[in-house]
Amino acid sequence: NHGQTTLCEQNNRVEFTQLAADYKAVNLGQGFPDFSPPQFVQDAFCKAVSGGPQMHQYTRAFGHPRLVKSLAKFFSRIVGHEIDPFEDVLVTVGAYQALFCAFQALIDDGDEVIIVEPFFDCYQPMVLMAGGTAVYVPLRPKGSSTVLSSGDWVLSAEELASKITPRTKAIVINSPNNPLGKVYKVEELQMIADLCIKHDLLCFSDEVYEWLTYDGAKHVKIASLPGMWERTITVGSAGKTFSATGWKVGWAISSGKLIKHMKIVHQNSVYHCATAAQEAVSHGFDREYELFGTPESYFQQLPAMLHQKRQKLASCLRSVGLQPVMPEGGYFMITDISSVHVDLNDESTKNESYDFRFVKWLIKEKGLATIPVSAFFSPEHSKEFDKYIRFCFVKFGDQIPWKKRKVELKE
Ligand code: PMP
Ligand code: GLN
Repeated sequence: NHGQTTLCEQNNRVEFTQLAADYKAVNLGQGFPDFSPPQFVQDAFCKAVSGGPQMHQYTRAFGHPRLVKSLAKFFSRIVGHEIDPFEDVLVTVGAYQALFCAFQALIDDGDEVIIVEPFFDCYQPMVLMAGGTAVYVPLRPKGSSTVLSSGDWVLSAEELASKITPRTKAIVINSPNNPLGKVYKVEELQMIADLCIKHDLLCFSDEVYEWLTYDGAKHVKIASLPGMWERTITVGSAGKTFSATGWKVGWAISSGKLIKHMKIVHQNSVYHCATAAQEAVSHGFDREYELFGTPESYFQQLPAMLHQKRQKLASCLRSVGLQPVMPEGGYFMITDISSVHVDLNDESTKNESYDFRFVKWLIKEKGLATIPVSAFFSPEHSKEFDKYIRFCFVKFGDQIPWKKRKVELKE
């Protein structure tokens, strides 16, 4: 474990999903849609599996040719750089495997990797598995109790710069952020980019929620900033893009000079991903390429639908006296629970942090599952952030299921 925290055996999503099932709780914890992907990608999948035999066999290891071409065409326009489909793209088993390949291929023994908190929980074990050391810098709410938007959580340029040492290899960012919903503004990305360029660092940019932004927030790819293409690994997910998390199609896009190292990890672990799913995702991107920016585009329709769900969840929270931190993107919302006074003196959880105990109480006593936010922080900072819980709002249709269960948070 290289002298720091040992690898976490228990993933909080696994633990709370199990607890939610045991107590038959309404699960607003784990992040995945409870509705089907749009008809056009479902049709493309059906067509792929009922087509010729080749759709049931291996395809190109580093990405089905049709898909890498679609991704390169689509993202060249967005990044403002001509992406080579065969050199600059690696298709992976979800964004998870793209991240894993990036850490394994590009982080060496003793390298330091700066992770901006709150962070998606696999980054830290992936750094450790590569032999690196994770170094943390938190986004902090400015103006404490008046914070109402994820945009009010900010990264201190000085604090970030102070963490850079001669061993620093990469900075990991996630925008829109899970769990906060922060969408980094271009000035914030520029500050990170300036440091990456100045200190010759890589940037791992997890952009799985890139199409989910609200209230005019605009997602900008850090790879599109001057000098960043050759040093950024951009990670994406068809699971989030087309509401099909079970298909497990993801990708990494970067300069071929970096991707070629990731290809070696991929080739010697997974080798290639499901052919028919890649074919379907490729059709999805081709459609979106044609409809880009129009009201028919799924990349417009999905955030519009989620915007309504976000409003609904926010008003539910307010109705029980909780103040949501409105997310500018993604499909999670966090809220401060310090105003809720409940008896958490359950012996079995007394050594756990406040938010973990609160979430367990909420599941067991009120039938509602959420995720404690301190799980997205390093041990050194988690205590500062143990009064928040995360709700997932990509969940319910017109019905708000937990209302039926008469959950009342006001004590
Ligand atoms: N990054 C973030 C920020 C996530 O929330 C998730 C979870 N879906 C992933 C990566 C992994 O994505 P995938 O399901 O495509 O592996
Ligand atoms: N990204 C989703 C979440 O944050 C699901 C990931 C998982 O189950 N590990 O809840």
